[in-house]
Amino acid sequence: MWTIAATWCMALEGARKGAEILKEGGNGADALEALITDVENDPCFTSVGYGGLPDAEGHLRLDAGYMDGTKMVTGSVMAAEGFASPFRIARSLSAYKTNTVLCAEGAEKYAREHGFEEKEMRTESSQQRWKDSLEQDTQSAYRGHDTVGAIALDEEGNIYAGTSTSGLFLKRPFRVGDSPLIGSGFYADSEAGAAVATGLGEDLMKGCISYETVRLMKEGLSPQEACDRAVSELAVRLIRAGSEPGDLSVVAVSKDGHTGASSNISEFSFVFADCDHEPEVYLVRKEGHCSIYEKAPEEWIRDYMMRHNKR
Ligand code: ASP
Repeated sequence: MWTIAATWCMALEGARKGAEILKEGGNGADALEALITDVENDPCFTSVGYGGLPDAEGHLRLDAGYMDGTKMVTGSVMAAEGFASPFRIARSLSAYKTNTVLCAEGAEKYAREHGFEEKEMRTESSQQRWKDSLEQDTQSAYRGHDTVGAIALDEEGNIYAGTSTSGLFLKRPFRVGDSPLIGSGFYADSEAGAAVATGLGEDLMKGCISYETVRLMKEGLSPQEACDRAVSELAVRLIRAGSEPGDLSVVAVSKDGHTGASSNISEFSFVFADCDHEPEVYLVRKEGHCSIYEKAPEEWIRDYMMRHNKR
């Protein structure tokens, strides 16, 4: 039994690569890396890795996180600039007992010393978007974001979670969202399951939403129930506090390979595959307090890819 799942339609190609590894009995961490690096390398997906969204100063500072839910080890990089795969750097940090979360220059120094591939991650079009944005008002510019958050459960029963993102478009330099924060952007525990989040980091982290989703699975909720509960309780709590919740979306996989997803936005897509299902894109919609997901129509996927200039 194996499962791979990830946020957003952009993870489809990567999920295919990850599924191939898991199908052959490969390691879940390698499947996760295959999925996430596929998105990081693709300039069509402008909120992760190469061609990502610059911050207010025009720099492309990237965040990533990784957790192995069997060994209970993690690694994160925040605001790292000039490296091809922030996820790979985060994964490698999980080998250490200390110094596993590094930011900015510290992360870059570590990556250089350990021979990670250096790369100018801004493309001509990402720089153009930044220049164009100087004429927009900040609120609308903030709208561009999306994180690839992925989970892999391998045949051995080991579960892994990871993320990679450029964060909010035009973020204040060195702003950090939920994505590289353990328990907020991602969490994995092979005794229960794993969860990853995407949306407005400033709100997601208030609910430690990935940890909360895994905790609920540990209490016996299904991944779907856990995702629904974690999203709706955080949204309700924020409303009670007088604030308008930002986008909150989570995907979870239980230790027995079931997948769940929930969101407070109207069009949240995710990808999953397991031993009985080929990698497909699903759309989440609300029915009362619960979410259900259905295979995304081909037309919807075509439209999504076109919007990202992806053939
Ligand atoms: N959660 C990410 C951040 O706040 C962005 C996203 O997933 O849309 O940096």
